[in-house]
Amino acid sequence: MAVGAPPSKPRAAAPDTANKRAEALRGLLARYDYEYYVLDAPSVPDAEYDRLFRELQDLERAHPSLQVASSPTQRVGGAVSGAFAAVRHPVPMLSLNNAFDDDEVLAFDRRVRERLAEEGLPAAKLRYSAELKYDGVAISLRYERGLLAQAATRGDGTTGEDVTANIRTVRAIPLRLIGTSPAVLEARGEVLMYRRDFERLNERQRAAGEREFVNPRNAAAGSLRQLDPAITAARPLRFFAYGVGEVAGVDLPETHSGLLDWLARAGLPVGPERTVADDPPGLLAFYRRMQSLRPTLAYDIDGVVYKVDRRDWHDPIGYVARAPRFAMAHKFPAEEALTELLDIEVQVGRTGKLTPVARLRPVFVGGVTVTNATLHNEDEIARKDLLIGDTVVVRRAGDVIPEVVRALPERRHEPPRRRRFAMPRACPVCGSAVAREEGEADWRCVGGLYCAAQRKQALLHFAQRRAMDIEGLGEKLVDQLVDAGLVRTPADLYRLDVPTLAGLERMGEKSAANLVAAIDRSRSTGFARFLFALGIRHVGEEVARVLAQRYRDTEALMREDWAALADEKAAVQKENARRRARGEALEPVPLEGIGPEIVASLQRFFAEPHNRQVIAALREAGVEFVRETARVGDALAGRTFVVTGTLPTLSREQAHELIRRHGGNVATSVSRKTDFVVAGEAAGSKLERARELDIAVIDEDSLRRMAGP
Ligand code: NAD
Repeated sequence: MAVGAPPSKPRAAAPDTANKRAEALRGLLARYDYEYYVLDAPSVPDAEYDRLFRELQDLERAHPSLQVASSPTQRVGGAVSGAFAAVRHPVPMLSLNNAFDDDEVLAFDRRVRERLAEEGLPAAKLRYSAELKYDGVAISLRYERGLLAQAATRGDGTTGEDVTANIRTVRAIPLRLIGTSPAVLEARGEVLMYRRDFERLNERQRAAGEREFVNPRNAAAGSLRQLDPAITAARPLRFFAYGVGEVAGVDLPETHSGLLDWLARAGLPVGPERTVADDPPGLLAFYRRMQSLRPTLAYDIDGVVYKVDRRDWHDPIGYVARAPRFAMAHKFPAEEALTELLDIEVQVGRTGKLTPVARLRPVFVGGVTVTNATLHNEDEIARKDLLIGDTVVVRRAGDVIPEVVRALPERRHEPPRRRRFAMPRACPVCGSAVAREEGEADWRCVGGLYCAAQRKQALLHFAQRRAMDIEGLGEKLVDQLVDAGLVRTPADLYRLDVPTLAGLERMGEKSAANLVAAIDRSRSTGFARFLFALGIRHVGEEVARVLAQRYRDTEALMREDWAALADEKAAVQKENARRRARGEALEPVPLEGIGPEIVASLQRFFAEPHNRQVIAALREAGVEFVRETARVGDALAGRTFVVTGTLPTLSREQAHELIRRHGGNVATSVSRKTDFVVAGEAAGSKLERARELDIAVIDEDSLRRMAGP
């Protein structure tokens, strides 16, 4: 077989521009080959390499004088490092030609049939074997009399590296064949790493401060080419066989599909996904099936491989430079590609979260054109060291959303000018303040009541049953009201009238009137409900209840001197510590359970003028607070109640509200801390437990009497 036979015909000289470009491409490809094969650390995605490779091939086709024997298009990529002993392959280890679309598969089939006809072979009987194209490292395993004698990398195709000691540590590779011991059998296949194992390895590398690998393929290559076999042994390598090299002393099956079965029987791992097909439609069906299977596999594949099934037809069909003519790799759309990071924009989500989004020069990757990718938060941008204007690697695998993997800092000398991203200091949608809380990765817009991005969410939260309880104001209606520009903030709700509402889609006169009535009813509410309805971060129902015990309205809350309150709290806690030591009754702690995080959130919320405007507008619209929660000194203060069974008139929830309104606590299970169990009809185990613990059991009537007016 001739690898890179020099051209014999004299050729016309290529124009200068073509010459220069070809030279530049050869230089680039040589550098990428070095990074990929020698350093196991590629700097560009395979798709970028393939694109340049194709460009060089096209140039060489147009100007044959450019086709020199040393061109990467004429050689098997790879190198022999010198760190290992050299091994000469008795049968060369070749590369594969690639097809990137269906037409190229049809052309491959046509060429094969033509070659068969030329050789006088019956093309009508042609069949193909199809299998996965494993994305790993090629290896040749030499078994002598059934025992593993030597393992070698592909190297430049004729000479590889002796990695026998390392391969012996790979448990997927048998040291002895099963049921056969031919004089020589070279099994050819791919060493690879499962994705999960790769991630774990990178975690370990990170923890140890060692270099991380770009992908499982490079991790497998790097692990295989270790000078210390103990390191290889610690790396979880796998192997799949897909062919043979030198063979002596055994008759192997006639077909490639039969050969794979034979190798499997001999104890070598062979991929389960394979088929035979008579024609291109059969091959393409396999390709599509494998493409949908791809995300579910434990390991990476970058395509499928078609091979003429009859092995005795391989040599007659022949070889070109670096690859056989009887086989073809049909590649999947690349999952990684290069593009330019044009800008970083900030989007504001429904909850006020600011998300930086990469705007990319459109790039075809993973089968779709990608123009945007989320960058999650500012730390992520810093961690990846992305500059606006950078050339970046974009990845889209399966249905997973596209991701900016990394930048290529080595390209920073090229135009355009780079600039660093900075989070805006005000919300890009509404201009309110933004805040990033301690220990959190995200910035958020503080103007929740006012911000257009958060409008719908804020209104839904405001209207819900546990907040202002505006019956009938659901998602569809909020969408319509906001989209039609009728409502911008919750205060606008109180200006809606029946004719306006009745004009909306799927809104009759009657439901409009009902909604206006529900909105009107909500004017009179409890302060705790109102506080909860404002949607202040970290202020849930329970926190709102505690706050409402101390403050009667927003004005009082806004007047609070938080520093003085913190001092007061500290003093009470100190006093209580003393009392506890003496076994005395404790003083109530102001705003118990409300820590600095909540206080900071309250301060931020009320400091934002936009929020204060909306609250003022709500008050002007007639929202007023009725007494709903208990204050210190209330009848049930400090007592804990458990309600069980069916009460005569109150629902479970109403009973809880009554208890809380008068200062009591509600618990769901009976313990020694329970003061009263309010039992109704069909009370079960909780009642029994109360009796066991000798806890007072009362009925609804007694509860009402205890609570007072
Ligand atoms: P290849 O990987 O595209 O195809 C040939 C190889 O496929 C074989 O040597 C074999 O190892 C493997 N293979 C997997 N499954 C197989 C199967 N079932 N049957 C037969 N062979 C199978 O070609 P290559 O020459 O090894 O490498 C070139 C490719 O490597 C390029 O197309 C590029 O994608 C990548 N590369 C990338 C960079 C970079 O910088 N990113 C640099 C160099 C090469």
